Amino acid sequence: MNPYAIAIHGGAGTILQSSMTPEKEAAYKKGLSDAIAAGEAVLKKGGRSLSAVEEAIRSLEDNPLFNAGRGSVFTNKGKNEMDASIMNGRDLTAGAVAGVRNIKNPISLARAVMEKSEHVFLSGDGAMQFAEKLKLEREPDDYFFVAERFEQLKKAKETDSITLDHNDGSKGKIGTVGCVAIDVHGNLAAGTSTGGMTNKKFGRVGDTPMIGSGTYANNATCAISCTGHGEFFIRAVVAHDVSCLMEYKGLSLSEACKIVVQDKLVKLGGEGGLIALDTKGNIELVFNSEGMYRASKRQDESLYLGIYK
Ligand code: ASP
Repeated sequence: MNPYAIAIHGGAGTILQSSMTPEKEAAYKKGLSDAIAAGEAVLKKGGRSLSAVEEAIRSLEDNPLFNAGRGSVFTNKGKNEMDASIMNGRDLTAGAVAGVRNIKNPISLARAVMEKSEHVFLSGDGAMQFAEKLKLEREPDDYFFVAERFEQLKKAKETDSITLDHNDGSKGKIGTVGCVAIDVHGNLAAGTSTGGMTNKKFGRVGDTPMIGSGTYANNATCAISCTGHGEFFIRAVVAHDVSCLMEYKGLSLSEACKIVVQDKLVKLGGEGGLIALDTKGNIELVFNSEGMYRASKRQDESLYLGIYK
């Protein structure tokens, strides 16, 4: 049996200890450790990494503190449009959705696209019709209304800026969520879910639902979930690039992550980070921003929680 391991993130950006209260910090840490516990419960029973990823992300999507599911940021039109993707490292199957509204857990819809449709990527109304057909849980607009998020939108509109959840100057916000896991069968999986960027317009979609940019998993190399300024992560094809450096250049997970996040992305001007796991159970939690909400847990080891640099 392979030892299991799991890692999650809750977004990266300008996260400073000076703008955090002990109560808020404790609430965010609880959100992260609850999500690890939800994923670990699956892995402990010998369950699949894919299910661990889905459960950990559902827990973060249900928590209004995070920019995914319930806590999603607002678009320019005051709506919540969510993106998510999931990938199975064992057979390279994948599922993704973009611009979905009123879906309680977009990560489960992404998984349904992978397992119950002949497609990989569904968007907008079509993705929502598919969710309806499968009777996936829906919630009314009110469920997604978080007052602080609405304030973020107002602020972003004042300056006509499109902001990363945690870079809008408001205190203690956290963002996009993701998970990578390896199960006792040695299979890797990765998933990512987000409300995107505050004040986004014109159906903007970031890296989160794009397989290879925001999410990637391959048993031959690694599992990756990204967070940060999506436009740059798309252009740098971040998640797949890490995998390629391992596959074609024989680099270690740590070397590959460092090159992509600390060098290539920085040169492009892309702020953010990623969580990564390889088949040996090595975990990397790498970012070039002030902070990244992150947690990891290996079988029989204690929980690691981090926020700042
Ligand atoms: N990457 C996400 C996006 O661009 C945002 C984030 O990670 O906070 O939509």
